[in-house]
Amino acid sequence: MTLDPNAALVLFSGGQDSATCLAWALSRFNRVETLGFDYGQRHRVELDVRAPLRAGLAAGFPAWGEKLGEDHVIDLSVLGQISDTALTQDAEIAMQANGLPNTFVPGRNLLFFTFAAAIAYRRGIKHIVTGVCETDYSGYPDCRDDTVKAMQVALNLGMESRFALHTPLMWIDKAATWEMARELGGAALVELIRTGSHSCYKGERETLHGWGYGCGACPACTLRAQGWQRFKAEAG
Ligand code: ZN
Repeated sequence: MTLDPNAALVLFSGGQDSATCLAWALSRFNRVETLGFDYGQRHRVELDVRAPLRAGLAAGFPAWGEKLGEDHVIDLSVLGQISDTALTQDAEIAMQANGLPNTFVPGRNLLFFTFAAAIAYRRGIKHIVTGVCETDYSGYPDCRDDTVKAMQVALNLGMESRFALHTPLMWIDKAATWEMARELGGAALVELIRTGSHSCYKGERETLHGWGYGCGACPACTLRAQGWQRFKAEAG
């Protein structure tokens, strides 16, 4: 299997992090495809913002638009059957005794990477880009750098391939993620991600805050709001 060294597949959920990663990939690779997962997430609205975000990137940044290839959406509704969490069920979002929010879906990113590699294999894509981060995150162990590096080894062994897994946000916080967007695409990209991406676990998309849409109270909104405030303070 020959993998195109100039092609990337971005795990694109529709959130701030993956939207920034999509811009990052478009600034580096010649062909960029996107992948989303429908797993019965409560914040299913994040799937609805993916197409407008892709269109916004293509319209606002024509050089990127030429590189933006196919979008893939995989039905992983089986995740809702095998796990019992506040991300896939209508339960109150809360912290658990083990320090993880009850939105943690065990192994979710492990499954995502595996399906991403299977698609990349079929599409002949060498680079797989994901927005996971262990700097200011919810503590999900499958977002850790060691997990991703171990997955890269496992996938390359198991698929007899040479995929490269990229995590451009691994060591930066949410404020720096906004700063990365500004460096990649200026104020226009920051504004597209602010208004066009979706992070809120509750799927709330009624109120536009300074940092974007959301309930303002769930762990995803809290992280996003704090990061935005630091970004604005640092940007002056
Ligand atoms: Zn929220």
